[in-house]
Amino acid sequence: MSSNNCKSVGIVGAGIQGVCIGLQLLKKKIPATIFDPKDPGSMASYGNAGHFSPYAILQLNRPDVLYDVPKMLFSSYGPLALKWNYVPKMIPWFFGYLKNCNKKSMMHTAKYMHQILNLSLDAYDEIFQEFDISNLVEKKGIIYVWTNQNMKSRELEIKVRNDFGVKQKLLTTREILDLEPNLKPVFDGGAYYDYAYHAKDPGEIVKKIFELFLKRGGKFVKENVKTVKQSNNDETVIKTENNDYKFEKSVIACGAFSKKFTDQLDENIPLDTERGYHVHFKGMEHLLKRPVIFLDRGFGLTPMNQGLRAVGTVELGGLDNPLSKKRIDYIVKCAKELLPQLKDHEDEWLGFRPTLPDFLPVIGPSKNYKNIVYAFGHQHLGWTLGAITGKVVSGILANEKTNLDLLPYSSSRFN
Ligand SMILES: Cc1cc2nc3c(=O)[nH]c(=O)nc-3n(C[C@H](O)[C@H](O)[C@H](O)COP(=O)(O)OP(=O)(O)OC[C@H]3O[C@@H](n4cnc5c(N)ncnc54)[C@H](O)[C@@H]3O)c2cc1C
Repeated sequence: MSSNNCKSVGIVGAGIQGVCIGLQLLKKKIPATIFDPKDPGSMASYGNAGHFSPYAILQLNRPDVLYDVPKMLFSSYGPLALKWNYVPKMIPWFFGYLKNCNKKSMMHTAKYMHQILNLSLDAYDEIFQEFDISNLVEKKGIIYVWTNQNMKSRELEIKVRNDFGVKQKLLTTREILDLEPNLKPVFDGGAYYDYAYHAKDPGEIVKKIFELFLKRGGKFVKENVKTVKQSNNDETVIKTENNDYKFEKSVIACGAFSKKFTDQLDENIPLDTERGYHVHFKGMEHLLKRPVIFLDRGFGLTPMNQGLRAVGTVELGGLDNPLSKKRIDYIVKCAKELLPQLKDHEDEWLGFRPTLPDFLPVIGPSKNYKNIVYAFGHQHLGWTLGAITGKVVSGILANEKTNLDLLPYSSSRFN
């Protein structure tokens, strides 16, 4: 049910969240304007691994990961790394994270990630009916491989997914090689999510959704937003370097860059970033049919239009530190471990996952200013969750009722 009385919305950020929110607003006949100084889909929504992974309900706030963190941090060649100059700034996030590394919090996050992940593919399918996806989306599933070294963690993941009724097929090394014969069998088993999709070019998909948004009458202002304020009950003001723009409601959808705005709105939301990397092995995408993730290494390979994308790792180091050559070396080495035939790589890329300490996104109205709505913090799953976030947030802006329990995503959990 919609009272549909919202007259206009300004959206800050043209990543996958921003463009999906914009498109859904237009479907509800609510005029929408997106602001971004960069081209749509230039940041995390460009360089991710492209997995549409509705099964990925278990996040990194887990007791088992906590035990491994110190070991991983002090090894320069592991899936997790730290920029030491950023440690003092990261302390509040890290304390929040430690507080959430217990079974209760892990299950709470899994439950509410499952709630939206479960709807994520249907929400994309609706959008994908509107343009030709034949060279952009592949529906051949996603494979995870692992060694026997961290079986306690693997067993936990399998059990939690089973508890929530998530479909998964466990595979032997032989079965994995039947699906992906080019892999070197340096693993002992794995899992197959045969219903998952992958993007062959995430940046291009954002552009296609953005083109639809423009075609339907959406507006784009290519400017850097300085402040977002609510001036009265019916008006918010988005201030850029050049102008003030007025809308009835505004949305903050700037991914890892959203904290600047929530600080201005007097909310102390502990958003930080998990930095991730990719490189391309050009012309080598034929080596795999679908994404393969090596869980022990925290990295994966995705066949894309630009080449075979080797992507992953988590580096805690904020938004301003430069790219770490050691992280690039790490993913290149991991890629060659699985596919020794790989040679030269190109396109070294650093991106910013927007992550809260409890690994749930922030979706919903700001605590202090009800006409400003948040849509950020989707961490490792923001690509998968773009379309459903668009539906949920446009519903909030249109004052629609929903059967979803949205309270767990509210920023009020940090106040
Ligand atoms: C290495 C890596 C691999 C990943 N793999 C996957 C995956 O396989 N599957 C998955 O589901 N997720 C994945 N993710 C996560 C996913 O990419 C992100 O969660 C998602 O892209 C975030 O989308 P967003 O729209 O919130 O942010 P972004 O894509 O970062 O967009 C934010 C936008 O806000 C704009 N902005 C910032 N400041 C301002 C300002 N002041 N004014 C105006 N605009 C501003 C930026 O320019 C940018 O365009 C991965 C992430 C990384 C880094």
